[in-house]
Amino acid sequence: MNDGLEKSEDMSLDAVGGLSRCAHWVDGHLYRDKTEKVMCVARPSDRKRLGDVPIAGRKTVDYAVQNAKESVKKSGWAHGSPRERAKVLRNWATLLEENSEELAKLESIGSTRPIREVVEHDIPFTAEGIRYFSEWTDKLGGEVAATSGDRFGFVHSQPYGVIGAISAWNFPLMMASWKCGAALAAGNAVVLKPSELTPFSALRFAELAIEAGMPPGVLNIVNGDGPRTGQYIIEHPGIGKVSFTGSRETGAKIMVAAAQNGPKPVTLELGGQSPQLVYEDVTDLDYVADCVAKGVLANGGQGCVAGSRLIAHKAVCEPIVERVMEKMDARKAGYTWDMDTTLAPIVSEGQMLRLESLVAKTCEAGGRAIVGGGRIRSVYGDAFYQPTILSNVAPGMACWDNEIFGPVLCVKEFSDDDEGVELAQHKDYGLAAGVHTSDIGRALRTVRALGAGTIWVNRYGRSYDFGLPTGGFGGSGFGKDLGREAVQESLQYKSTLIAI
Ligand code: NDP
Repeated sequence: MNDGLEKSEDMSLDAVGGLSRCAHWVDGHLYRDKTEKVMCVARPSDRKRLGDVPIAGRKTVDYAVQNAKESVKKSGWAHGSPRERAKVLRNWATLLEENSEELAKLESIGSTRPIREVVEHDIPFTAEGIRYFSEWTDKLGGEVAATSGDRFGFVHSQPYGVIGAISAWNFPLMMASWKCGAALAAGNAVVLKPSELTPFSALRFAELAIEAGMPPGVLNIVNGDGPRTGQYIIEHPGIGKVSFTGSRETGAKIMVAAAQNGPKPVTLELGGQSPQLVYEDVTDLDYVADCVAKGVLANGGQGCVAGSRLIAHKAVCEPIVERVMEKMDARKAGYTWDMDTTLAPIVSEGQMLRLESLVAKTCEAGGRAIVGGGRIRSVYGDAFYQPTILSNVAPGMACWDNEIFGPVLCVKEFSDDDEGVELAQHKDYGLAAGVHTSDIGRALRTVRALGAGTIWVNRYGRSYDFGLPTGGFGGSGFGKDLGREAVQESLQYKSTLIAI
């Protein structure tokens, strides 16, 4: 299917001026402490070395946080004109669009994101997301409280000061825009640590914020790994709140660290194991199969809302699976910087081994790979995994219970609505779900029954509806990215009572 393709022109980080960006971004410029250890960052497509990026130690984290604290006060970002803040954010969105070619190259070389998806999806979403948040700056007042007549009470919101953001590798630019957009619109400064696997695009993102008129120091990027740089951010007394995206295990550690070093509030976006539930009354099987295939194959399945479980009524399961197979077969592995690549590589060898182990354990327990089930070994190396369909799967098996993070679809049939809903509900996770039916009553009953933060009916995947908050139920975490909620969670609320 994907083997035997010709290699295309090589692409290095330097081709887009990225090598100079093996650094941090503090106080509006690239910053590097020569004494810091470095980490070797590789291209996900073929694991070739891109550059050595410094691991921020306590000194750099402290420098970034102190800078952010001072800057947010002195520059008027927190308490100056909200309209001015909006203007800077809008300018930034425009600059992100104007520099989309360079950003797309940077993102596609340094991450798993195929360049066509970056151009058509990630950059428009990044820019429009910032624009969405810009519209909140002057709508964040407060309210007058009902008090006794001899007193006057009001509640108003104010920013935390500096928010620490720790993000994952799967959608580096988009995730940075969600985390930073809400926090900055609310008048905070941000210290962002991108994943150690994908550090480059965030630096250009921050550089464009300066060009847009953001005061230096308001947005800082510190690179490094989780146990050191990430931990130092959480521990720093100058950090008022932590916003995190990543795994459940790390989320739990972050909660403990935030409790021990404050305590300070956290929002945790912890992924999922999301179902697409298909009832027998669907009318367009090809459309449903398209939603299922796109839901599990986007970014090679490495998305927090990946629809990894197809739960379909027995009357329609087989024809849908046949159609999904065809769509999987049409995906083309290749370097992320090639416009015709439609299957993303697995981000690292560590993630690949984890994926292989999950599939192997599922098959040992009785699951069967009816399509795929292994690595693609081709002229591109072995960073790609075959789009895979697993049948005979059930709760309790590795690929059903765990977040897979690969292009692997578990398929399970059901006979009646209650059974379908019960299967769709995961024992741990509740991030997203898809429901396909032509009966609105059935759709709404299912929406009510499922414990998930986002439910798509007769579609699957994110849209430009930024007003809809995203976040999990249960083991998928708490707190929201996007929507009014994300901005409100970037603020703290103060009550004032005046004796008249
Ligand atoms: P992690 O949860 O390990 O990492 C996410 C972020 O947290 C990274 O920036 C990481 O740093 C940082 N981090 C790790 N440990 C700590 C710590 N002790 N203190 C502070 N920060 C820390 O996710 P991975 O990237 O390793 O991916 C592993 C699994 O997580 C995936 O297989 C998938 O299941 C899930 N995941 C979920 C995502 C989602 O969107 N919800 C996104 C990505 C992953 P660094 O990695 O740089 O060391």
